[in-house]
Amino acid sequence: MKKSNLLLICAAFVLAACNAPKASDSADSPVDKILLRDFNPTVVNNIPVTNVDKAKFPIIDMHSHDYVEDAGQIAQWCKNMDEVGVLHTAIMHCSWIGRPFEEVVELYAPYKDRFRFWCCFDYSDMSPEGIEKACALLERYHNELGATGVGELGDKGEGDTYARPVEGRDIHIDDPRIQPLIRKAGELHMPISIHIAEPYWMYLPMDETNDGMVNAVNWHVDTTNCYGYWKLMETFENAVRENPGTLFIACHYLNMSHDWPTLGAMLDKYPNMYVDISARVAESAHTPRATREFLIKYQDRVLFGTDNGFEPEMYRNIFRVLETNDEHFYIPEFGYHWALSAFNLPDDVLKKIYHDNAERILTEYK
Ligand SMILES: [Zn+2]
Repeated sequence: MKKSNLLLICAAFVLAACNAPKASDSADSPVDKILLRDFNPTVVNNIPVTNVDKAKFPIIDMHSHDYVEDAGQIAQWCKNMDEVGVLHTAIMHCSWIGRPFEEVVELYAPYKDRFRFWCCFDYSDMSPEGIEKACALLERYHNELGATGVGELGDKGEGDTYARPVEGRDIHIDDPRIQPLIRKAGELHMPISIHIAEPYWMYLPMDETNDGMVNAVNWHVDTTNCYGYWKLMETFENAVRENPGTLFIACHYLNMSHDWPTLGAMLDKYPNMYVDISARVAESAHTPRATREFLIKYQDRVLFGTDNGFEPEMYRNIFRVLETNDEHFYIPEFGYHWALSAFNLPDDVLKKIYHDNAERILTEYK
């Protein structure tokens, strides 16, 4: 056989091997079988994995709830806080189906140095006289029971459905009827923590175009008969603008972590507005560079919060995202299919977000 013929035959073999059907081309390709909700990849990259056992600076957790069943669990919570470096924690009583505010304060009394309490607005009587009584109750909670703030109020479109014991259905934060309560909170120097809307993906069609669908489907908001995302933002902005003497903490980055420029513009406009970072690690750590830039630019207006129980691991996941330079990792509990990357925040920024901004609110705003 001539040498050139042999070469041709070899080339034909190579081509045939390259063109052999791949698993992804065949009818029973795993790509056609694996559901997005089952996507659970193993990272193969040889890249740093950093465990942060304890926060780099002492922390004030500005967003938590009454997760305990009994006093014994409060003792365990304090131990966990010591272990991970949390000085004290704000308990948002509102939005919590459980014991009444008075009982919460009593239960935590032996550990009162470690916890602060946010209470509800009372919507049981919406007449002007009723609202006057609600203002008096707020004052009593503040003066006698030591309520530090109000919240977490929560409006996903149908009004403040987080309120306890009476839901504020159809009562939005800019409702003229509750403005005396908002002013009263300002007079008493009680910040109002409020959860407005949900992350933007929860309002989009649940189809193949929805980037956050895997988690969004669990929290999908049907706005057929209630306010939509941007209308809710308008109610919040109205309240913040009309009540410059009241300090508002927009929980979960105001559920606007998909749109840092718009959120930043609001912070620029309203000095009486802060955001907390609670429960939005996954929604911000898939865009680490943009988030880092936002956190650095608004380092004086961002508060640390958790909103997710009191296991040490829960805190550590957040520390890893804020403190390290790790990239492309998954935290399956957050429910999204995307990988996360950490922010590697500078120390001075970290210290403000962990502690100093909250401390300023809790002392100077008092
Ligand atoms: Zn919460």
